[in-house]
Amino acid sequence: MEWLNTVIVGSGPAGWTAAIYAARADLKPVLFEGEQPGGQLTTTTDIENFPGFAKGILGSELMNVMKEQALRFETKVVSEKVTSLERIEGGFAVVAGGVTYHTKTVILATGASAKRLGLDAEKALYGKGVSACATCDGFFFRGKEVIIVGGGDSAMEEANFLTRFATKVVLVHRRDAFRASKIMQDRTLANPKIEVVYNTEITDILGVDVGHVTGVKLRNTVTGEMSERTIDGVFAAIGHEPNTALVQNLVEFDEKKYVKTEPGTTKTTVPGLFACGDVQDAHYRQAITAAGSGCMAAIEVERFLR
Ligand code: NAP
Repeated sequence: MEWLNTVIVGSGPAGWTAAIYAARADLKPVLFEGEQPGGQLTTTTDIENFPGFAKGILGSELMNVMKEQALRFETKVVSEKVTSLERIEGGFAVVAGGVTYHTKTVILATGASAKRLGLDAEKALYGKGVSACATCDGFFFRGKEVIIVGGGDSAMEEANFLTRFATKVVLVHRRDAFRASKIMQDRTLANPKIEVVYNTEITDILGVDVGHVTGVKLRNTVTGEMSERTIDGVFAAIGHEPNTALVQNLVEFDEKKYVKTEPGTTKTTVPGLFACGDVQDAHYRQAITAAGSGCMAAIEVERFLR
């Protein structure tokens, strides 16, 4: 039976950086790309704050470049989703695409996924006017009016992106102040195609009977007043939750349900299992911090194996 040194689960900035470092340390890492190769950055537009790209770079392009760099140092890339991860004597058993791999260590870089509003109609109308990814679906709303929910950087970025296609973008936020960075807020408030509606939440999405979004029911979070609005599309940009299903019964979690790591390291509560990127970071959640923690994980794996 062949034992791998390390398996990397996930192909965002954390996973690829871990692969580059592990491969350069001659650990011959095997990286599983998962269901969404490149992860969340492939659903964003321009990355303007990743050092080294003075003019910005597309999220998907940044992931392609990282992959290319990891391949240059002989990372083995498997285009499969890991479906099971178990502790065994001497390490871990990893199952992907029906094949079981044995590895001494695992670097968990499974990232996070977009949160949904949690409405029944949202499920019924998903892909029929409801979306959690403006970059993926914005194109379908050319000449239409859309709502985007959220008050963080993602909502600002996606609202601005949607104005390329939509005639009007209504930004609905549950409070009267945004949590987005000043620069993103300013850009949003200065965009004449964006209407901001504060202190409001969506309580229902209309159109299930006709098979596509026709409007929304809104509630004022201060007065409780209800209203309806005609709209063609509903986008949610309300944050993310960590992708932890694989390790649910394996590791300990922090109070926000992210994988718990020893402060200042990527060590989880299971020896040999390291976690990096958004799956263990409820705080920074940036491409650059994910990449940095991927580097830390690879260095810690190398030390663990030594
Ligand atoms: P976020 O900062 O957590 O913001 C989520 C927003 O959604 C908040 O305004 C929150 O409202 C709202 N929200 C949460 N649950 C809701 C619900 N059930 N119904 C209605 N509204 C809800 O998430 P994010 O915007 O995705 O950003 C995540 C991280 O990525 C941040 O660190 C951000 O800076 C970073 N990011 C950076 C850029 C950039 O620099 N260009 C772009 C995108 C993301 P409350 O404010 O009331 O809690």
